[in-house]
Amino acid sequence: MSAKIELHVHLEGAIRPATLLDIARRNGESLPADTVEGLEALYRFTDFRHFLSVWRMTTNCLRTADDFRRVVVGYAQEARAHGAVYLEAIFSPAERVESHALDWDEMFTGYTEGAVEARERFGLTVRFTPDLYRGCPVELAEECARVSVRYRDRGVVGLGIGGDERRSTLAPYGKAVRIAQEGGLAFVPHAGEVGGPEHVREALDLGAVRLRHGIRAAE
Ligand SMILES: [Zn+2]
Repeated sequence: MSAKIELHVHLEGAIRPATLLDIARRNGESLPADTVEGLEALYRFTDFRHFLSVWRMTTNCLRTADDFRRVVVGYAQEARAHGAVYLEAIFSPAERVESHALDWDEMFTGYTEGAVEARERFGLTVRFTPDLYRGCPVELAEECARVSVRYRDRGVVGLGIGGDERRSTLAPYGKAVRIAQEGGLAFVPHAGEVGGPEHVREALDLGAVRLRHGIRAAE
């Protein structure tokens, strides 16, 4: 099997239904379905809005460092079976801080310890590019950038931003991006995913070194 790398995977979106059910049960979270089959039906893509709502449902179940560790290890095992040797994985910590007052270090420790375990068990390298979201409070975004820089020696290599481009431009997040860049992280935003070419341009103007999607760049 040839060696593969993966550069765009949202860890919260890659949780197997059985794992999500188990984590939700442990954390006392109810889901709209309580069987693997029920969750699989819900995972089926209909449109971007539905996709985002299912993604929020999933991420809301995650609470402890152990949850985040399991998410990384579970996905790394699956990716390894497909021949992956390197994963650059996305997770979205700011929503968790905002909606459930989760601790930054709880998340970053869990994810980065998952990377260590993935390396030991499957010989696979996992690096991280945490994502902000469009509409995220500016101070939260800047704090996220500072925490990301702090975890640079544990595998955080970049900072991104995702969500619906129609909700916010990148302008409010210029300082957060600078904090990340000055701390040695790459800026790797989603842009030109559902928004137009102006979103691609502003991402490049802020020094993006990789665009996620970028399909509207053709325009
Ligand atoms: Zn993405």
